[in-house]
Amino acid sequence: MDLGIDLDKVRRDTPGVDHVAHLNNAGGALRPSVVTDTVVAHLRREAEIGPYEAEAESEDRVAAVYGSVARLVHAQPDEIALVQSATAAWNVAFSSLPLATGQRILTARTEYISNAIGLLQACERTGATLEIIEDDEHGQVDLDRLERRLDDDVALVALTHIPTGGGVVNPAAEVGVLTRKAGVPFLLDACQSVGQLDVDVTALGCDLLAATGRKFLRGPRGTGFLYASRAITERLVPPVLGLGAATWTSPTTWEVVPGALRFETWERSIADNLGLGAAADYALAIGLPAIEERVTALADRLREALAQTLGVTVRDKGVRRSGIVTFTVDGMRADDVRARVAAAGVNVSVTRISSAQLDYGVRGLTEVVRASPHYYTSDDELDRLLTALR
Ligand SMILES: *Cc1c(COP(=O)(O)O)cnc(C)c1O
Repeated sequence: MDLGIDLDKVRRDTPGVDHVAHLNNAGGALRPSVVTDTVVAHLRREAEIGPYEAEAESEDRVAAVYGSVARLVHAQPDEIALVQSATAAWNVAFSSLPLATGQRILTARTEYISNAIGLLQACERTGATLEIIEDDEHGQVDLDRLERRLDDDVALVALTHIPTGGGVVNPAAEVGVLTRKAGVPFLLDACQSVGQLDVDVTALGCDLLAATGRKFLRGPRGTGFLYASRAITERLVPPVLGLGAATWTSPTTWEVVPGALRFETWERSIADNLGLGAAADYALAIGLPAIEERVTALADRLREALAQTLGVTVRDKGVRRSGIVTFTVDGMRADDVRARVAAAGVNVSVTRISSAQLDYGVRGLTEVVRASPHYYTSDDELDRLLTALR
């Protein structure tokens, strides 16, 4: 398969492939050496000359991380806030949006667990109501139903682009067309799509987008980012502000800073942020369209082979499918499947109904096995999983 990615090179750049067939990129990817080396080098420098001094010494590289992350999603550097996780990004965005009694929030069946809990909690506090837009017959969010429910009293549309426990890619760009027409803010959880798909915030039409570093982007744990468009940022003030997010202009006054920096907290791991920048640069050098093409092809190949494996049922739905492949095995608990394939040197993971209450219940599922290859995955590695299952 030649899709424009030099498989030998990306595997040489990934020391983990010598140890395991890692099909858990939706949990946390194997990092390229450049990411680990960047993080470790900065930690060493902090130990040698002092943390503030090491930061000052790499000031330009620290600043450049915003540009790298912005390029990844086709945004501007001042539209990026660096935070410690996708959850932190989503929460600071959501909590900055005004929400009043009687207003409605629209979301879909695939909404991520932490977002769903946050939405429920906010509704309980404010008297706003949460409405679930049903899926269409293909298992993606139903655009007609969404359009019909997008009235003046809708405060927000919150959508998960690719869920954590299913193969669907929701039609986010089509949702963006509808929210723009209605003038309703659109908060997209792109945690599983950034680093896997060529995510373009303008094409998607989202106002706010949350992502993490450690999954398909292959960055360090404890990193994440928020994209907030210039237009919406001007209207939002986060409920908690501090050094960096606001300026203390006199003993009794303060001003929120321009741009997305208002969504950050001041203290962070500079080493990890540099590692995030290195991960973004690495993905950009390979090219997101090429990454998207290869991940999609590998996942499709895996689904086809699984569908032909006796006793295995593929559980993915949707018109468009991602690099996340979910399945069940007749008469076997998901944890036992995971343990069996782990013994054959293959990492997969398990997703349970406890993190997919809106989705799995109506589909009669309680748990699935999740296999998530990446562009550095080889055909041999997929075969290792299939052999272990047979
Ligand atoms: C993992 C995940 C998150 C949370 O990311 P964190 O960085 O752990 O906060 C959010 N949304 C989706 C769809 C995820 O898969």
